[in-house]
Amino acid sequence: MDLGISGKRALVCAASKGLGKGCAWALAEAGVDLVINARGSDVLKETAREISGRFGVKVNYVAADITSPTGRAAVLEVASDIDILVTNAGGPPPGVWSDWSRDDFIAALDANMLSPIALMQALMPAMITKGWGRVVNITSQSVKAPISQLGLSNAARAGLTGFVAGTSRQVAPHGVNINNLLPGIHATDRADMLDQAIVVQRGITLDEARAQRAATIPARRYGTAADFGAACAFLCSQQAAFIVGQNIVLDGGAANITI
Ligand code: NAP
Repeated sequence: MDLGISGKRALVCAASKGLGKGCAWALAEAGVDLVINARGSDVLKETAREISGRFGVKVNYVAADITSPTGRAAVLEVASDIDILVTNAGGPPPGVWSDWSRDDFIAALDANMLSPIALMQALMPAMITKGWGRVVNITSQSVKAPISQLGLSNAARAGLTGFVAGTSRQVAPHGVNINNLLPGIHATDRADMLDQAIVVQRGITLDEARAQRAATIPARRYGTAADFGAACAFLCSQQAAFIVGQNIVLDGGAANITI
């Protein structure tokens, strides 16, 4: 399907690996020029080279921590006039409710709520002026089906979801559509990290931990970065113009929810 966005320009944050890379890949396949970001420069540079080589689009990259004001400023210097914004950052660590300090909560809020909000505030005015824009925030299935050991993530992403609920309705009249994509379990380094915690907790192998988690998913497998990227690119398409302020779960049916 022609998504009608060839020649547009996107910023995809936290995109050297995993779900962010999946989004960057699918947007490039649709002909979108990219600015991609991650903290580490080696993998980021290689990802930029891989994507531009494969699809012939322009790929700029900025190695910076997107959760810090200076990191965001460096990214925004290169990506000030983009049409599509995909926000993303690493997720907070798992733990137990009684472990978390105020500083832990502030770090989680900075990474998974206030950074995407700051990026939207910086980049949506130009989209509004142009009368066209797309924003996709990578959040988590935990927004609809909270995960007990991910309390920091549950809390921060709920805050972002509340912001988007109102803001998406305020910017939609200007042709700017904001939606959230909620990943369930996808095969990335993040999933490996969470599986490793199960290995330690239950005294089983990594393969056994993966098999146990995959068995909880009706699709009986983990999602892939390609599954996720395809959904992201569709939300950025011309065809998605009537999708506003939604929280779309991509989890192979794992969360038994109806709304
Ligand atoms: P991942 O495979 O670990 O990849 C994370 C990417 O983000 C890497 O490119 C990493 O590169 C970059 N990154 C991390 N922190 C950053 C920062 N502060 N500034 C800039 N770049 C940063 O993770 P993922 O699985 O794709 O997860 C992406 C998001 O989806 C996370 O918030 C995660 O919690 C959420 N999520 C994932 C799953 C899943 O099953 N995979 C499920 C639910 C929610 P550098 O390390 O070089 O910065």
